Amino acid sequence: MPSMAARSRDSVAPSPSSESQMTYSRFLELFPDNDACLEYLKEKFYSDGTECPKCGKASKFHRIKGRSAYSCQWCGNHVYPTAGTIFHKSTVSLQLWFFGVYLMTSTRCGISAKQLEREIGVTYKTAHRMFKQIRTLLTDEGESQLAGDVEIDESAYGGKLRESDRRKGRAHIRAKMNARPTVWAAVERGGRVRAKVIKDRTAAAIEPPIYEYVLPASMVYTDDFPVYTHLGRLLYRGHKRINHSAKVYVEGDVHTQTVEGFFGLFKNGVRGVYHSVSTRYLQNYLDEYTFRYNRRFDAKPMFWSVLDRVQKPALAFQPTDS
Ligand SMILES: [Zn+2]
Repeated sequence: MPSMAARSRDSVAPSPSSESQMTYSRFLELFPDNDACLEYLKEKFYSDGTECPKCGKASKFHRIKGRSAYSCQWCGNHVYPTAGTIFHKSTVSLQLWFFGVYLMTSTRCGISAKQLEREIGVTYKTAHRMFKQIRTLLTDEGESQLAGDVEIDESAYGGKLRESDRRKGRAHIRAKMNARPTVWAAVERGGRVRAKVIKDRTAAAIEPPIYEYVLPASMVYTDDFPVYTHLGRLLYRGHKRINHSAKVYVEGDVHTQTVEGFFGLFKNGVRGVYHSVSTRYLQNYLDEYTFRYNRRFDAKPMFWSVLDRVQKPALAFQPTDS
C-alpha cells in the first residue's frame, strides 16, 4: 500500500459526488485513513436526522471512540455503518477496500486480482475475494427496459482450441464447442446495454431476457439466426434482420455492429486484463463491463457510482464489535 499521509480534512468538499475527476491525490485527500472511510459510510446511512433503528427518533449519531460504531443521541443504541455491506467483518481495512474500488474504477478496462494483490499487498486469495465482492455492486438490474433502436445478439464465449484438443479428435472438439457458455446482449444504439450468460442458443434461453430487458415499443435488430424469426410478429414495434448467413453485415441501418462491438470490448478486455475467466464468474465480469459501458459518457466518476451502490440490508442488525 502506498503511503497515505493524512491531510487536512478541511479541504474535503461536502459533496464529493459533484467532482468530475477522481485522481489518486483526490482519493488520498478524501480518504486519508479508515476513519474517513467509516465517516463516509456513516454519512451515507446515518446522516443527521436519520431515524434510529431502535427508538425511532430522528437522531444524530456520534462516533464511539475506538470502535467502528456510532451511538444514537437519544437512546445510545449502537449503529455500525459497515454492517451488512461488502466491507462487513473483513480483515482488510476499510481504506484498502475503498482503494480497491478506486483501482478498479480508475482504469478503462479494470484491473485483475493479481494486480490488486501487488498494489495493496494482500494475498491473491484476498484480492480475488475483494474483487468478487466489489463486482456484486456493479449491476444494472432494476433499471428501465432498453428502448428505441435495440440490437440483439448472442455469442459463444471462449473455448479456444489447442493442439491438445485437436489430438483428442472430432468428438472431443464438438463436445468442447458445445460446452461453451453463451453470452447474450441487447444494446441501444448510442445508449445502454444489458448482458446475460444464458444456457444455450435455443429460443427457450434467448427469448426470456429479450422480453425482460427490451421494451416492446423498440425497433429490434438481429441477425438471421432462426430463433429471432418471430420477434417482430410477437411483440416488437418492428424487427429488421441482417442476413449474416449470406455474409451481409450492413444494409443501411440494418446491422448488429453495436452489439458486436460490445462483445468485442468484453472479450478483448477479459483477455487483456484477466487472461481467462471461469464460467462460474462470467456473469460478474459481464456485469462489470456492462456497468462501465453504461457509464461511458457519465461526467460522474465511476468510483462514486460504485460507492453509491454500497447497501446495507433493510433490517439493521447488530453485530458484535470485534
Ligand atoms: Zn435511538
